[in-house]
Amino acid sequence: MAEYTLVRSRRRRTFCLQVDGQGALRVLAPASARLEAIEEFVSGQTDWIERIRRRLAGRPKPVVLTDGALVPYLDTTLRVVLGADGGRPRAERDGDVLRIAAADGAAMRGHIELWYRAEAYRHGIERILHFAPLVGRAPKKLRIAGQRTRWGSCSSRGTISLNWRLMLAPAALFDYVVAHELCHLLAPHHGEGFWREMARVMPDYAVHRRALRAQGDRFTL
Ligand SMILES: [Zn+2]
Repeated sequence: MAEYTLVRSRRRRTFCLQVDGQGALRVLAPASARLEAIEEFVSGQTDWIERIRRRLAGRPKPVVLTDGALVPYLDTTLRVVLGADGGRPRAERDGDVLRIAAADGAAMRGHIELWYRAEAYRHGIERILHFAPLVGRAPKKLRIAGQRTRWGSCSSRGTISLNWRLMLAPAALFDYVVAHELCHLLAPHHGEGFWREMARVMPDYAVHRRALRAQGDRFTL
């Protein structure tokens, strides 16, 4: 039986199980619930608890952004060099060095994200110009987004959104998402027609699709 903290509440009518970021369990139960009933509830959730804990264990730790930290950038890695904030906070690339001038760690993270967003826009336009002639359609607009759960989207008005975190992934995966969203300009849904276009534009797309699914959690700062 898994260890847990029991929290009883007079207002509660049902059992509820929570797992925090460290994997610790908390059981919320009605004030009057018998201990056997609680134990029975928890042991019925064993599979779920295991699944959540495995996911937590496999989750990458955020990169510690300090002087000398290494950050992924498409197929290469940049070294962060922290400079003094001379009243003008900024981030700029110099070869494989990413120079950041920031007052503190939090400001630094903000500058790095802004820089990656600008790079994602620049690189995104470049890759759209490459793939649009192959697809036979061009978007009206490119937008850079930052949702945790979405790599890209394509609106019915022809706006393509790309997640800036794709700059932390290999270039082939960035390309896959660009090609994927452009193909949505031909076929809005993931039907047979959509995947046919996808295979035409990028014959090995399935490899990249699988890689993005399997490793997507890693592409974060
Ligand atoms: Zn899609």
